[in-house]
Order: sequence, then structure tokens, then C-alpha cells
Amino acid sequence: MSAFTITKMIAKSLIRGPDTRRYPAVPAKKTPQTRGHLVVEIEKCIFCGLCSMHCPADAIIVTKAERTWHIDRFRCIVCGGCVEYCPKDCLHLLPEYLPPQEKQQGETYTGPEPVGAQEAAPAS
Ligand code: SF4
Ligand code: SF4
Repeated sequence: MSAFTITKMIAKSLIRGPDTRRYPAVPAKKTPQTRGHLVVEIEKCIFCGLCSMHCPADAIIVTKAERTWHIDRFRCIVCGGCVEYCPKDCLHLLPEYLPPQEKQQGETYTGPEPVGAQEAAPAS
């Protein structure tokens, strides 16, 4: 590439401005295909662990005994694999991006007590 071509490219870029956005100051562009973040309807979850087993990024941890569903947002690549495997249709990809985070932190959701669990528990 000649010096002239490079100078022309630089001049064009200076006039046109950057192609990137200063997110989050400037909102991200959304299309119908945009995959922003994963959400769980925890009240529908049966804690089968299929989402966790099929996650290529090891972003989900499910504990059946404690009825918890945990996601590590720094690991999740928003591929949607877990959504395909969930037998209860409780995982969804929303188009909105989450705000940037500086510290790695997970989110843990706890499911409601199963119906009849309190009656079945021994009296203390
Ligand atoms: S969207 Fe993909 S990476 Fe994120 S939790 Fe689901 S399977 Fe894992
Ligand atoms: S696959 Fe669906 S029902 Fe099973 S643990 Fe994951 S979110 Fe819950």
C-alpha cells in the first residue's frame, strides 16, 4: 500500500469520523438478531442442569438441592445454546445489552419452594 493511499484513508477517516460508537455514552445499535443478554424465569425452572451441561463457556451453575441457578456474565458469550436445550422454555435472550461492569460478579437466582414442600417437612 502506497503512502498516498494511506494518507487518503486517514483523510477520509478524519472527515467521516470513527465507525465505532462510544458505548455506553452512545446507545448500541440493535437489530432483530441482536443478542444482548440472557434472562431466566426462575419460577419455571426445574433445575435439571441441561443449560449448564450444554454451555460452551461454563457460565451457568445449577444446584438442584438448593434450587439455585447462577450465571457468570463475564463468561457468557450469549450464544443462545442454553435457550435451545431448556425443556421448560425458561431461558430467553433479550436484545438489550447490560451496562458495562468493572468487577466480575455472578448473579444467583433461587427458585420458589416446590408445592407441598412445607407440608411434607417434619415439624420442628
Ligand atoms: S448463552 Fe451460551 S454462553 Fe451464555 S449461558 Fe447460555 S449457553 Fe452459556
Ligand atoms: S435447562 Fe431450563 S429448566 Fe433446566 S436448569 Fe436450565 S433453566 Fe432450569
